[in-house]
Amino acid sequence: MLESQRVMTMGATTALTPEEQLANKYIVELKKAEYKTGILDPSTHSPGYHIFQLLSEVNKSPLFKALRTMPKGGVLHAHDTAICSTEYLIRLTYRENLWICTADEGCKAIAFRFSKEKPTLKAIAECSWEPMSEFRERRGEENVRRYLLRRFSMYPYSTFKSNNQAWNHFMSIFILLDGLLCYAPVWADYYYRALKEFYEDGVQYLELRSLLPELYCLGEKKLTINDTVQIYKDTLERYMAKNPNFIGSKLIYAPLRGVDPPVVEKYVETCVALNKQFPTFLVGFDLVGQEELGRPLIDFVDQLLKMPEHINFYFHAGETNWYGSTVDENLIDAVLLGTKRIGHGYAIIKHPFIMSLAKKLGIAVEVCPVSNQVLQLGQDYRNHPASHIICQDVPMVISSDDPSFWHALPLSHDFYFAFLGIAPMRADLRFLKCLAINSIKYSALTTPEKVIGIQKWHKQWIKWINEVIKTKGQLEPREDKSLKK
Ligand SMILES: [Zn+2]
Repeated sequence: MLESQRVMTMGATTALTPEEQLANKYIVELKKAEYKTGILDPSTHSPGYHIFQLLSEVNKSPLFKALRTMPKGGVLHAHDTAICSTEYLIRLTYRENLWICTADEGCKAIAFRFSKEKPTLKAIAECSWEPMSEFRERRGEENVRRYLLRRFSMYPYSTFKSNNQAWNHFMSIFILLDGLLCYAPVWADYYYRALKEFYEDGVQYLELRSLLPELYCLGEKKLTINDTVQIYKDTLERYMAKNPNFIGSKLIYAPLRGVDPPVVEKYVETCVALNKQFPTFLVGFDLVGQEELGRPLIDFVDQLLKMPEHINFYFHAGETNWYGSTVDENLIDAVLLGTKRIGHGYAIIKHPFIMSLAKKLGIAVEVCPVSNQVLQLGQDYRNHPASHIICQDVPMVISSDDPSFWHALPLSHDFYFAFLGIAPMRADLRFLKCLAINSIKYSALTTPEKVIGIQKWHKQWIKWINEVIKTKGQLEPREDKSLKK
């Protein structure tokens, strides 16, 4: 029985070369060491905790360090203004001509704007503008740095009253970042930096969901949504020219879902026009925002069916705990609409028919473990529903959604919790290799692009396997000590 179960599990039948088997021994050793201390004293087992409570502990884990250097393939689920490190965001606030709008007697940051003169723009709440340099002077550089470190993230809240409250806070970060990132020169630099940070974290391909806002400049010049995509494309080309081993990046147009059907009709028209102009770069469509508060997909069926066949859907669906609700049933509509992947699919295990269809049709579920925890769908990684996806070998990829907001690395933390917390104890390098290959297999790359993508990944993979074998003796398993302070 054990063997029949094992062969059904994701990655179990992935072949390993003799070198990979050698590296596997070491990876398993590191994993077992964490299990061993965890079982002896569950208070030391990191997947049982909220990431905010033990981020620095995880960063010291030898298993985490090994996963960090591993070539992990691509990230297929990430939102474009929530992917760079907070340190980088803070650095952006030192740029010339930046203004900040604050409330609560100059303490709470409400908005940013680049401008030669005091901005006349009305922010989302009552606040007053001052140059960022003066704000920094008034409050002290280190204080501002520490404040922004939190303000640009979900910290310190490991618990909210409800997931609605978590979402409110989450959306407020996006709104705050708008004025900082939607400035045309910063937009390009932020994306370039994201590609760099992802690549350094072992990610060679990035599929971004974007609202595609209209960017602004210092003068009167107005930019269009086409310019936004053009800036992305030019930046990517600039990055690829310097990093030929990077596989690439593509865009999924993903505007907000909390709108009326005629607006979705406009979205579809915009998507078709953009795809015409950027046929190999802007390739998909999705709707974003809190699923539970937006409208269900079924409300937009007539509009969505107008999307031409060659532009694929990659719908967020089932990011909920409300079993049987319309949000939960988004999973069914997403599949009926022909979605190529399911964003989150947290509720999919409650729909065995959808699970079997996803398996038959090759619809991959984009699992984002840390995001699910921070947005309060579940606490303990060992209870994450993706365990069911793994044990039935439904196609799955691991992604990071908005790593910037939880101070996580572009993909390593999600891989760590998936491997140690969600996958079965005996899941090994086969599982990890399968995840990396899946991220290219189920991407929006064309078939010839996938062939090149796999080659580029494999080149890095072999290098990593050899490094693991070589440095094996230098990485010691984690010491046995309590995580609880
Ligand atoms: Zn998402």
